[in-house]
Amino acid sequence: MSAVDKCLFCDIANKTIPAEIIYETKNVIAFHDINPEAPLHCLIIPKMHIATINELDAKNSFVVAYLYEAAAEIADKYNVAKEGYRVVMNCNKDAGQTVFHLHLHLLAGRKLSWPPG
Ligand code: AMP
Ligand code: ZN
Repeated sequence: MSAVDKCLFCDIANKTIPAEIIYETKNVIAFHDINPEAPLHCLIIPKMHIATINELDAKNSFVVAYLYEAAAEIADKYNVAKEGYRVVMNCNKDAGQTVFHLHLHLLAGRKLSWPPG
């Protein structure tokens, strides 16, 4: 990403745009989705800018483990670990990706249908 490009989730990560942050470590930050699709719907993102899954490689893919570690901790904190939850990452247009900074959705608190639409 060039210096002139703006990324909403980079701005949330560096706190120039506010969000309801629920988890933060050196590499990862998580916040409530602005348009929740479930009683608990948060987004877990690496602080490092990675646009899509397609940009993952041997140098940056370590962050994906941290995203899942965050998911497990958040599920525990919000008491949804036992009942269950879904994590999903959309890639590009056919999957409906609208923000081009890697993010894991965590959805919980209701019965989720399968397969997703
Ligand atoms: P995706 O469609 O997978 O790219 O998901 C992007 C998600 O970001 C959507 O669920 C949006 O509701 C959410 N979103 C967009 N802007 C914000 C924001 N400023 N704060 C929190 N969530 C946002
Ligand atoms: Zn970004």
